[in-house]
Amino acid sequence: MRLKGKTLLITAAGQGIGRASAIACLREGARVIATDVRADLLDRLATEAPGMLTSTLDVRDPSAVEACARVLPPLDGLFNCAGFVHEGSVLDCDEAAWDFSLELNVKSMYRTTRAFLPGMLDKAAQGASPAILNMASMASSIKGFPNRFVYGVTKAAVIGLTKSIAADFVARGIRCNALCPGTVDTPSLRQRIANAPDPVQAEKNFIARQPMGRLATVDDISPMVVYLLSDESRFVTGQAVLVDGGVTI
Ligand code: NAD
Repeated sequence: MRLKGKTLLITAAGQGIGRASAIACLREGARVIATDVRADLLDRLATEAPGMLTSTLDVRDPSAVEACARVLPPLDGLFNCAGFVHEGSVLDCDEAAWDFSLELNVKSMYRTTRAFLPGMLDKAAQGASPAILNMASMASSIKGFPNRFVYGVTKAAVIGLTKSIAADFVARGIRCNALCPGTVDTPSLRQRIANAPDPVQAEKNFIARQPMGRLATVDDISPMVVYLLSDESRFVTGQAVLVDGGVTI
């Protein structure tokens, strides 16, 4: 029970990495508040994972985030997982696409951190060891990928945001790290493959860039989430932690 006694909130926990992480954290004894903009996904999660607490939350809605922080107890862990993959180069990214990705992938993390950090600081002052985990990607300041222009911009910004928060609050007992997965088999990846002009070739291309010869599963990623939210990682802060199957060797 590596997370026993901890109260964690996860955004975008309705499917994919967020969902698998919520289940992994619950198994490790945490009280998990799984949030997502889609109530249908949360209903299914609550049914399939008894003991999971769920609450709809649109991280693009500032008043909803503030209201959520007001009603919930102070957190021991915040996993900002919500994010969207825009496909294309700078020439394919108009102002609306830029604004949408920056809002969902970066500003939402600024927003949730401002809302939940005061409670986490109170907990730290009482001897707890709260942690924030932000979802970045190997496609970021770490490595450029074709057709991931604004996605790479946002995930690089997540790493900067993470390091700034880590630096400001390290002496007050808060850790903040970023998680940088490789390509993970999730519903949105399947959708991107299905939308490609040649889906079979698109899947082959995703696999070809993975030196291990396969995509990650969500369960390749969730153990790192458990570790970074647990006290086992108590000396780790401000890091962009890669779980990429060797892409960036
Ligand atoms: P996904 O894209 O399949 O699902 C995303 C979830 O986010 C959905 O449940 C959706 O309802 C929710 N969501 C969308 N907008 C929201 C909002 N405004 N507020 C709250 N929830 C919202 O899941 P995934 O592929 O596991 O991606 C999760 C995160 O992991 C993203 O930040 C993504 O960029 C990152 N990531 C994914 C991969 C990958 O290959 N799948 C690789 C690296 C990083």
